[in-house]
Amino acid sequence: MKIALIAHDNKKEDLIRFVTAYKDIFEPHELYATGTTGQKIINEVSLPIHRFNSGPLGGDQEIGALIARNEMDMVIFFRDPLTAQPHEPDVSALIRLSDVYNVPLATNMGTAEVLVLGLKNGYMAWRDIIDDEGEPSGK
Ligand code: PGA
Repeated sequence: MKIALIAHDNKKEDLIRFVTAYKDIFEPHELYATGTTGQKIINEVSLPIHRFNSGPLGGDQEIGALIARNEMDMVIFFRDPLTAQPHEPDVSALIRLSDVYNVPLATNMGTAEVLVLGLKNGYMAWRDIIDDEGEPSGK
């Protein structure tokens, strides 16, 4: 599975702790991240990760482009709900595209736990049989 990891600045440490705790689950998957988030994961968790631009410089949109091509299977995005972000429109666009393509999206640690444990237990297998609209093929 292709998994995108993104965290706003005040949530980056939370995401590092989360990825560290579930490193074994993440390890077999293809990981993607916005620039700064990705660099921190590489440095602190030593997982290979494809880094896009930093979020405010277009990284969220790059991940959004993969979602729009149905080339992203899960998004874990620890948003900071208490701080205004200069690239809020990009954040909203990413969330919107996840909904358009039915890509599982966690915007906080509570939901991320459920998604990652679901991934471990095989509940993401349906992503292997989705069509171009993000619907199960043959529906
Ligand atoms: P960053 O971007 O990982 O480059 O900090 C995240 C974001 O703010 O969208």
